[in-house]
Amino acid sequence: MFDSVLLEAAARAGATVREGVAVEDLMMADGAVVGVVGRTGDGRRETCEARVVIGADGLNSVVARRLGLARSSAPRRIAFSAHVADVAGVEEMGELHVGKHGYVGLGPIGGGVTTVALVLPLAAVREAGRARAVRSGFFAELERFPGLRGRFDARRLVRRVLVTGPFARWTRASVSPGGGALLVGDAADFFDPFTGQGIYSALRGAELAAEALVTALDRTGPLTARALAPYRAARRAAFAGKWVLERLIGLGVGWPALTNRVVSRLARRTDLADLVFGATGNFVPARRVLAPRVLTQLVW
Ligand SMILES: Cc1cc2nc3c(=O)[nH]c(=O)nc-3n(C[C@H](O)[C@H](O)[C@H](O)COP(=O)(O)OP(=O)(O)OC[C@H]3O[C@@H](n4cnc5c(N)ncnc54)[C@H](O)[C@@H]3O)c2cc1C
Repeated sequence: MFDSVLLEAAARAGATVREGVAVEDLMMADGAVVGVVGRTGDGRRETCEARVVIGADGLNSVVARRLGLARSSAPRRIAFSAHVADVAGVEEMGELHVGKHGYVGLGPIGGGVTTVALVLPLAAVREAGRARAVRSGFFAELERFPGLRGRFDARRLVRRVLVTGPFARWTRASVSPGGGALLVGDAADFFDPFTGQGIYSALRGAELAAEALVTALDRTGPLTARALAPYRAARRAAFAGKWVLERLIGLGVGWPALTNRVVSRLARRTDLADLVFGATGNFVPARRVLAPRVLTQLVW
């Protein structure tokens, strides 16, 4: 739904929309990106020249990989997500269930349907070669979480189980070192989905990219890395503290005992809860939670 709204808005604003074409490679000249090479659904190769290429192609971004900027780090996790109708006990609130095996997020999306995302450590899925088994035994996996037992009816699966990951992926730089390209959204940074930050970060990053590009494209000549540097700086200012916080939360979720401790602290200390949820909800600066005094109070 949201994707269609964005697509229609882009088309209304004058973009030429080409669906069913996958970008496979970048066109380069003197170290700078000068366009993309795509493949149509019927296998035809297409090229498209551009003064700037914006890599908004998600977690496994071809643009980031071709630029040699993609990196990954712990905690490496993988998500199995589905839409399920009539999940018992789900009303307007989302839920997060953290267990020894991973965590599950429930998010009501209207019409009695809930998005259910099961996130597991990649190693656990890989070791046992279990990815296919987890997918087919999705509901059995959910039953392993005490707070979810008996709440799902497997016949009410309304969208098949999709697999995403592994995360965490990030990039060494959000701008091509040779100029001519930049990265936004998951293509630039994807951390653990535990706090549900991806859409905000993708949209805020796109705003920052637009602001930087309006100025850069106004000048004639190639878009060097220097011309694109304001975007990189703006991203750092907007996201640096936030990514540290997200990283800490992502790592902490791997220890259910620690999660329980922090959650019980948050239940008792509404001031701390307001701070943490404000920072993850982007209306309180992340650095306020990262202050040693606050971090200490969250754990001890
Ligand atoms: C299990 C899970 C739960 C999540 N829950 C939340 C949540 O509750 N709240 C939240 O804010 N975020 C959540 N996220 C994160 C969120 O989904 C992403 O951060 C967000 O979708 C990023 O948007 P994007 O446009 O950068 O990438 P995407 O949404 O991945 O879009 C990338 C687009 O690029 C296209 N593409 C990819 N490769 C190519 C190619 N080679 N050529 C052409 N096109 C290509 C894809 O088809 C896609 O349309 C969750 C993620 C996961 C995995």
